Amino acid sequence: MHHYTPLIATIVAGIVAAFIMGAIAHRLRVSPIAGYLVAGVLVGPFTPGFVADANLATELAEIGVILLMFGVGLHFSLRDLLAVRRIAAPGAILQISVATLLGMALAWWLGWDPLAGFVFGLALSVASTVVLLRALQDRALVETERGRIAVGWLIVEDLVMVLALVLLPVLAQMQSAGDTGGGVGSVILPLLLTLAKVGGFMALMLVVGSRLIPWALHWVVHTGSRELFRLAVLAIALGVAAGAAYAFDVSFALGAFFAGMILGETPLSRRAAEETLPLRDAFAVLFFVSVGMLFDPAVIVEQPVPLLATLAIIIVGKSVAAYLLVRMFRHDHASGATIAVSLAQIGEFSFILAALGTTLDILPQEGRDLVLAGAILSIFLNPFLFTLIVDRQRPEPVEAVEPEADVLPARHVLLVGYGRVGRLLGASFLARGQDVVVIESDAERAAAAEADGLKTVRGNAIDARTLNMAGVTGADSLLIAVPEGFEGGAIGEKALALAPDIQVIARAHSDDEVAYLESLEVAHVVVGERELARRMLALALRDDDAALEPRAGGAAADRS
Ligand code: AMP
Repeated sequence: MHHYTPLIATIVAGIVAAFIMGAIAHRLRVSPIAGYLVAGVLVGPFTPGFVADANLATELAEIGVILLMFGVGLHFSLRDLLAVRRIAAPGAILQISVATLLGMALAWWLGWDPLAGFVFGLALSVASTVVLLRALQDRALVETERGRIAVGWLIVEDLVMVLALVLLPVLAQMQSAGDTGGGVGSVILPLLLTLAKVGGFMALMLVVGSRLIPWALHWVVHTGSRELFRLAVLAIALGVAAGAAYAFDVSFALGAFFAGMILGETPLSRRAAEETLPLRDAFAVLFFVSVGMLFDPAVIVEQPVPLLATLAIIIVGKSVAAYLLVRMFRHDHASGATIAVSLAQIGEFSFILAALGTTLDILPQEGRDLVLAGAILSIFLNPFLFTLIVDRQRPEPVEAVEPEADVLPARHVLLVGYGRVGRLLGASFLARGQDVVVIESDAERAAAAEADGLKTVRGNAIDARTLNMAGVTGADSLLIAVPEGFEGGAIGEKALALAPDIQVIARAHSDDEVAYLESLEVAHVVVGERELARRMLALALRDDDAALEPRAGGAAADRS
């Protein structure tokens, strides 16, 4: 029982520490990401106590990056990228140039050579997908126009970085060739070879992958096995990523992104995203923990000035540049602020780039430490920036989804969830001319509600801001048509806190859920199974008023 098991120890320590620190962060109303990073510092080698295996943690983090990039690919189709290309492509490229120049200036001041400065600046120029997506998702901004621009911008940045990762070894070779007097010709061949490999991978994915992957998934769907489907999605994500890395020398991240993008074009993308979510969340947490582990807090006392300058480039330099660029493209202040703040941090690509830079001997160790410290501090500060700058300008609540949120009808019905139950309710209210506002967290379903002619607010109804946007205080009743009774309870509790007089009608499936909902002063709890039984009894007895007998130990579903 006592043999040494580093993999288990690393996963367990990472998850347990992340859970504890994440819970503390939650209590303190800080982004959980900050908690995960601190957890990493705690289990890392630079603090006393338990030390997890850094190499294993890095590999686990790589799985996190693969699954995250797969998710990004799933959600972001080429069409969306093309829709924002006018602003995202020049914006990202100009912003990268500004940040790289600022980084090179700092490097010059620190006495590094220009190539070191170039790698350093490049590492400071690319934001973290994970941090950005989490921040946008928490605020239901992903599907808004500014959210799309931010994500598109980031994808262009990622593509530039992928190119940089490919070209960096060539540049290093060029520099040493220059040092040893070798001709430039000695690097042309490797450069062409690398570009051919990347091109080959992309062509293979677009020609073969885009046929094979959807076909395989369709086949799996028809087997009817949920487990097989989940496995198929994971096999595709991990398999393509690994194939890209081992066979084509393309990064794991790019491979996974392509796999996701191809899957995203199929109608199965939603299910694929749902099925991989739990695993993705778990490994994303390990990713942050592993980043925290690399952090040596000593850098704060040893190099305070370069660190502050690095941080200023990430937080001030980059975001000012982004803000001005967005405004130059005639987008409003809110878009400019959201995009600028979203990008005012660095993450996974920066680590990868800095690590490669030190391995190739073109970036001094010091540079890597600064990138790391800058990343951790900027990720830590990012949620605060969001609260300070973005959340303050909420007035345009759900752009494009609900343009007239401020003219909500006086006494309307709030309907949470537009699925199997919600859809039927929505249609019936519409037919009766009753004003309804739908709250739906899923983008596609929200769009369906919108298309059906219902006022719709996209977001999680557990969030008080969403409830307020839907006008909870002016609503007559709240119909919670989500399948999870306990989740429904949390929604009802929030709504009653905001509007104590609202009549809450909730959906439940089990006695436990009924008991819980009733303890929250929810006016009516409707149990699906009970209503089914009631109707079947009425049909069998040919008596529309036939009532169910109370079952021994059964819960009274409807209190009134
Ligand atoms: P169904 O189980 O088919 O009735 O679907 C329930 C619907 O409720 C789905 O469309 C979910 O996206 C939606 N839903 C679940 N939880 C929430 C929530 N907290 N806020 C808003 N919509 C939700």
